[in-house]
Amino acid sequence: MSPTAAYAELLAKLKRAHLLHTVNGILGWDEQVNLPPDSADLRAEQLAVVTELEHAAAGDPRIGELLDELESRQADLSPDERVVVKVARRDYDRVVKLPPEFVKERARQGSLSYHAWASCRERSDFAGFAPFLQKQLDLARKEAAYLGYDAAPYDYMIDRHDPGMTAGAVEALFAELKKGLVPLVRAIAASPVEAHAERLRGFPEALQRTLLSEVTERIGFNYRRGRMDVSLHPFCEGSGADIRMTTRFDEDRPLDALFSAIHETGHGMYEQGMPLALQGTPLGEAVGMGVHESQSRFWENQVARSRGFWRCFEPRLRELFPEQLRTVSSEQLYLAINAVKPTLIRMDADEVTYNLHIILRFELEKRLFAGSLAVADLPAAWNAAAKELLGLTPPDDRHGVLQDVHWACGMFGYFPSYCLGNMIASQLWEKVRGEVPGLEEDFARGDFSRLLGWLRRNIHEQGRRYDTQELVKVVTGAPLTPQPLLRYLRERYGALYLR
Ligand code: ZN
Repeated sequence: MSPTAAYAELLAKLKRAHLLHTVNGILGWDEQVNLPPDSADLRAEQLAVVTELEHAAAGDPRIGELLDELESRQADLSPDERVVVKVARRDYDRVVKLPPEFVKERARQGSLSYHAWASCRERSDFAGFAPFLQKQLDLARKEAAYLGYDAAPYDYMIDRHDPGMTAGAVEALFAELKKGLVPLVRAIAASPVEAHAERLRGFPEALQRTLLSEVTERIGFNYRRGRMDVSLHPFCEGSGADIRMTTRFDEDRPLDALFSAIHETGHGMYEQGMPLALQGTPLGEAVGMGVHESQSRFWENQVARSRGFWRCFEPRLRELFPEQLRTVSSEQLYLAINAVKPTLIRMDADEVTYNLHIILRFELEKRLFAGSLAVADLPAAWNAAAKELLGLTPPDDRHGVLQDVHWACGMFGYFPSYCLGNMIASQLWEKVRGEVPGLEEDFARGDFSRLLGWLRRNIHEQGRRYDTQELVKVVTGAPLTPQPLLRYLRERYGALYLR
């Protein structure tokens, strides 16, 4: 068989697995956006079957044969083809280590556990959720045992979301970050400047929708290949040709829907930025969640909390909400957009204290996986950590350990990606500002094309050519470090609170 024919057959096989993955994604999106309350059991079965098909397609023994063939003919392959073969090999070897029965059971349990979490969270019933969480933890440990890991099962959880990372590497980065962050949070807390975001009240949902569609389209999202809906927990699902994003509205917290929509749009634009022709191959896929989160956090924070951005959108905001903003000056509005105040809920957190929420979760996950913390003791451990890191004690588990969907879906090791994403975003921000001067003037004119073009070339179009840390090094010339994030936070929030 010629290498060209083998390569074409490999791509067809990868594409088939990818298509089943997208079907799975649409079922998952529909589950969170549209599913009638008593239809959850059927959806769990549907997801389990499609996951089984996807797993069989991705683990098709023919893929293994084709990879063997292509690996023996490396010299005949182009550099891009070599990347595809290398990453496809890594994926394939992982897939075939997981028994189909396990994969099916994991999908079914994930769906059941999601619905249990949603109703237990509503009632603040940790005891009701605990058996589901224990099951998710057992499944995750089992998965790590099938796949193998560096030093501990939690390393696999980290690597699964951020290829090449280990728990130890994350721990070192977080320790350095925490050292710089805690004094900054204290200094801001002691500042006489107050943001008063609570003054923004009574913003009708329909007009909020208008604003966020205009903003997300202007920054570069292509709505002919995606849509925005509402769900309990905002998310972005899908790949380049069809992106499903969600947000949630609160008339008395108008900035929440907008910023979570911009966040999800950052994810969506990353997916849209990968070449359509390469969808389903490693060159049309994201590196991992840290880099994914760097794209969402970049647009949400570095861009959408900048003065330039609001020079562009403030007039439109005032046009849509003249009464609500009548007594709010531009400076007060900008401060409300950049309000810093410790909160119990991660999703409501400002970008300074947000990282402390992640450090809290990372510490607890590590202990859960090491076996030094039992599920039953999790609420107390959570509350103690919240007190230590944020200075706040949750009044109930709904505002504590039950607030996030991730563990319910078995997504252990995912939280660190948010904080890694913040670090990567800041590192990219320093780099792009050096290479493309005058970006904030672009934003003020409503022109985001030079920035998006830079991200497309440097990040989106790279696909999975590099792992997380390699990509950061290649693009910025420096290893991943929390220092740019600390510099960025001191610059932006120092100017507002520590004048
Ligand atoms: Zn995100």
